[in-house]
Amino acid sequence: MPAIAEQLPTQSYVELENAYGAHNYHPLDVVIERAEGVWVYDVEGKRYLDCLASYSAVNQGHCHPRILQTLVEQAHKVTLTSRAFRNDQLPLLYKELHDLTGYDMALPMNSGAEAVETAVKTARKWGYTVKGVPECHSEIIVCANNFHGRTITIISFSTDEQYRRGFGPFTPGFKIIPYGDSRALIGAITSNTCAFLVEPIQGEAGIIIPPDGFLREAADICRRNRVLLIADEIQSGLGRTGKLFAYMHEGIHPDVLIIGKALAGGFYPVSAVLASKEILGVYQPGDHGSTFGGNPLGCAVARTALRVLIEEKMVERSAELGAYFLDRLRTLRSSDLREVHGRGLWIGIEMNSPARPYCEALKQEGILCKETHDRVIRIAPPLVITREEIDWAFDRIKKVIEK
Ligand SMILES: *Cc1c(COP(=O)(O)O)cnc(C)c1O
Repeated sequence: MPAIAEQLPTQSYVELENAYGAHNYHPLDVVIERAEGVWVYDVEGKRYLDCLASYSAVNQGHCHPRILQTLVEQAHKVTLTSRAFRNDQLPLLYKELHDLTGYDMALPMNSGAEAVETAVKTARKWGYTVKGVPECHSEIIVCANNFHGRTITIISFSTDEQYRRGFGPFTPGFKIIPYGDSRALIGAITSNTCAFLVEPIQGEAGIIIPPDGFLREAADICRRNRVLLIADEIQSGLGRTGKLFAYMHEGIHPDVLIIGKALAGGFYPVSAVLASKEILGVYQPGDHGSTFGGNPLGCAVARTALRVLIEEKMVERSAELGAYFLDRLRTLRSSDLREVHGRGLWIGIEMNSPARPYCEALKQEGILCKETHDRVIRIAPPLVITREEIDWAFDRIKKVIEK
């Protein structure tokens, strides 16, 4: 087999990928070779504005120089100790997460799905050891059209048939209610309910914002019934919606917070479950773990990624420029356009027909977007985007939508 040294044309990479990789994605045929800030460059030298930001994992912008420097420096020191020993980065990440969020404690994992699994395990163990639910009778309430990841347990409570088909048998112990329906939440709670797991804004479902007051009501219902409110902010958190966390739009404080994606600025998979001492205190040595979770490389990168997000005022940028972008996008006119909705730099353009052809057309114009749930074009650029770049993007989006 010939060595792959020089850049091949796009089609060669597509063919290699199709031949030797599982087809569990349907990517746009753009082969990215490098990236910087909001811009990505393909193997043919073409430049695109990234309006997906790797599902909000690169809120800080691609290859942010400060995070890159930390990655390199820490890689020269020590990358992995396992939790059998301690390292000098994890305690500092714990403290900084506490100072930033107000949560007592954190439990570090790697991918988002692992953190969701960890939150589910935490809620169950809290139910059995603190609330007094009979062992193996835990119930956790979730919402229709949720997205929390792809493990067997998580797809067990998905309402997307494609995510489940062919993968049973499923994990029991979950109840599904309509999103944004607090009466349904009340109706679903029993004495065995440990938790309500919810996305404050549903991302993969198409940037769905629940009715005003829903999260406040849900928090209240959970408190009165001794049910943990678990917010999955893996995608909505860390500035994406114009607040540090989306739950802050309603002035609540969920019992359990799940974060991931932008926690390490796209350099490394780092996720975490944050909660009070009472809740994370259910863990005893040996109850749960991860070889890579809390490793010094990931922790060092996450520490800098958080510092960059705050010090470079990216949350404020998201609020201000998101409102500006949303206002402009709301001026679009097309019979195929159903609605534009969003919060911060997280905007869904909902069409009446499949969004994929629009994403293909936007790619031709130099903008990378990915359709979500068939008819929504998601606009979620890195939070470092400038007003001028938004204007540049808007002109091209207008051309494609109004064509
Ligand atoms: C992306 C995402 C996950 C899963 O994260 P992975 O790192 O892909 O496992 C879970 N919940 C939400 C809300 C997400 O957007």
